[in-house]
Amino acid sequence: MIVVLKRGSTPEQVDVVVKRAKSLGLGVQLNLGTETVVVAILGGNTGQLATDTFAVLPMVESVTRIMKPYKLASREFKPENTIVTVGDIDIGSEHFVVMAGPCAVENEAQITEAVKAVKASGACILRGGAYKPRTSPFSFQGLEQVGLELLVRAKKEFNMPVITEVVNPQDVAFVSQYADILQVGARNMQNFALLTELGKCRCPVVLKRGFSATITEWLTAADYLLAGGNKQVILCERGIRTFEDSVRFSLDISSIPVIKKVSHLPLIVDPSHAAGHYSLVPAMARAAVAAGADGLLIEVHPNPKEALVDGVQSLTPSDFARLMTEVKSLAKVVGRYV
Ligand code: PEP
Ligand code: MN
Repeated sequence: MIVVLKRGSTPEQVDVVVKRAKSLGLGVQLNLGTETVVVAILGGNTGQLATDTFAVLPMVESVTRIMKPYKLASREFKPENTIVTVGDIDIGSEHFVVMAGPCAVENEAQITEAVKAVKASGACILRGGAYKPRTSPFSFQGLEQVGLELLVRAKKEFNMPVITEVVNPQDVAFVSQYADILQVGARNMQNFALLTELGKCRCPVVLKRGFSATITEWLTAADYLLAGGNKQVILCERGIRTFEDSVRFSLDISSIPVIKKVSHLPLIVDPSHAAGHYSLVPAMARAAVAAGADGLLIEVHPNPKEALVDGVQSLTPSDFARLMTEVKSLAKVVGRYV
């Protein structure tokens, strides 16, 4: 249930609402907006009786029961857009944020060449996996700590924040010492132990859409992060499984306007994992800019033919440079800049 307080309510009045919720054994999350305070009352019995309990309070403007399974990710709770700040980069703002780099960190020369190339073309965040959740146990699983160290070296040398995936709940604290943004992979979107751990940390998180998850399930997974108190959540559309087999996954472009309508969270698009082939990536990236995404996550490898992971879908530095020129022009058309 969402309780909106009257404009100008004092902290003491907010406290009355919070205390009443707690006395009923209900959870509370506050959205202290500049104009109004919104209180999400969570869990337990939020039926008519409980609704009335809040509606009678003099400082309460309105009480609405949210019928959707997700609450904190919803616009009912937070009407204004969330902006996630990483250094001087605002994700979810007019700045269209491009994150790029190899699927996996392989060695120092590879990550150095990659960071040089993506930075020169206008990407502002470096991606690189150190822990790779592979479908097969026999595939390359990532360099782990060595990979994280190489990422941080590249980050420092080129002054570029880094995003990297975390797979195990036990590794969250460790990986967040290296990363500026932690990535939850599609296969882990509903790994609730991992989400709970990430909810406790204060590092921004990119939550990829599970490839068989509905938008509602995805936003409900985001609620795990928000409920833990981590407000720095970015969604990432990366394609879903359909009957279509000429691409690796079907990029659900429609999720962009849907998410923008129902949620306040920033949303980026990963055309690489959806496309599965480098030749399809630019068109899908352009479509994402046009449809209103807040950024892109793109795989770029200095030498895709030699890549240990996802070489077929990785752009070469020169293909990426060409795409970035197009992305910059398109961003302007939709009122943003790269
Ligand atoms: C990745 O970003 O390298 C990755 C594994 O993506 P996904 O989780 O979307 O498959
Ligand atoms: Mn990949």
